[in-house]
Amino acid sequence: MENFVVIGLKYNGKNVKRRTSGFAKEFLEENKESNCIYCNCELNAENATADHIIPISDGGNNCQVNLVVCCQDCNNERGNMDFSTFISIKKNTRYKRDFI
Ligand SMILES: [Zn+2]
Repeated sequence: MENFVVIGLKYNGKNVKRRTSGFAKEFLEENKESNCIYCNCELNAENATADHIIPISDGGNNCQVNLVVCCQDCNNERGNMDFSTFISIKKNTRYKRDFI
């Protein structure tokens, strides 16, 4: 996997009330031919979702810096799993699938 920097944001106060539903759509409009950050599948208007790096349940907020765009399947699969744990699981799966 390419090197990348992840910035998650934890908010120690009242959570920012911002809807995340439009985030994936806006992201796709600005970044055409994007891929899922976890499984690398191609993203489109149907499968793209916004995922929280730090889950809301763990004190994460809806700021853009806490959001990544991934496919619906990965979003469901991750649930509230830690971001770095999940991405390393997916990375291993991906490499196995690609090279074995
Ligand atoms: Zn995915």
